[in-house]
Amino acid sequence: MAIENIPHIQPDEWLNGYIERLAILNGYKDAKDMFGKLGISIDRDKLDLIAKLLDITTETLVQEYTLIPAFRSIVSTGEYIPHGNFIQPNHKKKMGFQSYSEHVKFCSQCQQEDIGYIGYQYVRRSHQLFGALWCQKHNATLHEVSNDQIVDVIKSETQLSADQPNKPKHPIIERFIHISDALLSVKQPTQGDQVSWGLHKQAATIGVRFNIKGKGVPLSDYANEKIPHEWLHAFFPKLKDKIPGEFIPAIDGACVFRLQHHHPPTYVLAAALLFENADDALNCILTKQRIPPARKILRRNEQYWNSNDLYNTYVRHKGNCLAISKEIEGHYDTVRVNLIKYGLPPLTSLSMGTLKALKDFHNGAHLTDVLTRNDIQVNLFNHAIRHAGPRFFMAIEQLDATLVQQRKALKLRLTGKIKSASKASIFLKDLHNDQKLPSLI
Ligand SMILES: [Zn+2]
Repeated sequence: MAIENIPHIQPDEWLNGYIERLAILNGYKDAKDMFGKLGISIDRDKLDLIAKLLDITTETLVQEYTLIPAFRSIVSTGEYIPHGNFIQPNHKKKMGFQSYSEHVKFCSQCQQEDIGYIGYQYVRRSHQLFGALWCQKHNATLHEVSNDQIVDVIKSETQLSADQPNKPKHPIIERFIHISDALLSVKQPTQGDQVSWGLHKQAATIGVRFNIKGKGVPLSDYANEKIPHEWLHAFFPKLKDKIPGEFIPAIDGACVFRLQHHHPPTYVLAAALLFENADDALNCILTKQRIPPARKILRRNEQYWNSNDLYNTYVRHKGNCLAISKEIEGHYDTVRVNLIKYGLPPLTSLSMGTLKALKDFHNGAHLTDVLTRNDIQVNLFNHAIRHAGPRFFMAIEQLDATLVQQRKALKLRLTGKIKSASKASIFLKDLHNDQKLPSLI
């Protein structure tokens, strides 16, 4: 069987419904049967075939008739590739026939109108949006049928009852749908960083929390307070058993600049809640704003941690992890873990006695002799011995005079307060943790 009858694709028609119509019209059981018999199994190839039949580009097909523009409306990476453009290989997998639900949604009044005007009915893309419960045109509650019943509905073998009670509309849910619907017509993704920056600023103006530990109502509580739970909890189940006051990153994080990236519906929920009208919310999402520059994330490899450059930095800062982290613009904990991993444990907490014990041990002193000294921090000594590489001993030899001088100076300042070397080192450690007196250590 070949494809000879190519029906018009209707405005707002969902591709998943169109391929069923195409299949039926050409004598196949359904779309699965059609693609199977044509030997086409890859989504990308299916899209290309339909685009060719309709004499449009695959990009247009994706933009106008699939939910991809919704799925990709707000993305996490610096990606501006238009929807349906397949220059990146991973798009091939993602750009198929995804939907938000196991069910397909129909409006019985649209069905009647379609049959009256064009003689058949089709599946509308806007009805399939995340959060859509009613037809925007008729204000009628949408019917849901399982995916494998699409064919029956299209053939009008399943007559939808028109007496579904209309749910009362709610302004925030209306805004949510309006924003989602508008995002469908945008041809390329918006960046999550941009959106969270705009939401962050708006949250600040109305008292919604925009920092993890900040003041203000978490967005999640605000949502529970403002939106009917029947809808909210059906689409955002995380909010169902929400403890008031608790910060849930998966929802509340949408208002915290760059905290994490979210699915577009979470950003849309935040925008619908924070703005009183849909156009302002859309402007917040779509306007390219100047956002604070991202801190560069430098990925350092083994070679870097073993390099002379790193060793020289270590010596220059006398093994002080905080100072090293600042210079190399790394996160303190990551730098510390790597210094230890690559044989250069930080020196800051080690007392003079412990440093001397390490040096003596390295030069051949007996372990029991060293460990029985009364000015040694046994735990820190053990930790250093376990993690120290050859460069560590090189560093303490090289820094010997400096370290002695530094610790003597410090001890002088501590005279009268702390007597023993180990207490002094604990004090030193506290100072270090407080980061109040970094110049001392
Ligand atoms: Zn309708």
